[in-house]
Amino acid sequence: MKKLKCHCGQFKAEIRIDNLDKILRCNCSICKRKGAIMSMVKNEDFIIVEGEDKLSLYKFHTKVAKHYFCSICGIYTHHNPRSNPSMTGFNLGCIEDIDTFELEDIKINDGKNHPLDKN
Ligand SMILES: [Zn+2]
Repeated sequence: MKKLKCHCGQFKAEIRIDNLDKILRCNCSICKRKGAIMSMVKNEDFIIVEGEDKLSLYKFHTKVAKHYFCSICGIYTHHNPRSNPSMTGFNLGCIEDIDTFELEDIKINDGKNHPLDKN
């Protein structure tokens, strides 16, 4: 179990995860701007504890992906990706006991060339 919180602490979640098996950054237009290092769990393993009403939701392009951030401190907390809305991606920088500067083996997700944009 990992505890996630935004910068101001109004939003809190618990994540049912033991090992971070997938650590990634993404080069899509929004992630490029956020620069966050992320991991993923199933939606049911991302449990909002407090402050759901403080979240803002941002959607763009096909409006399928849901990008959440704290409306008070502006920090990206989590999102549901368009490629798999049953998963929650979350900001490893929001987890107190993880130093994102010590993480190794960070994969780059090629969101810039999204599979659902190819036809
Ligand atoms: Zn906040």
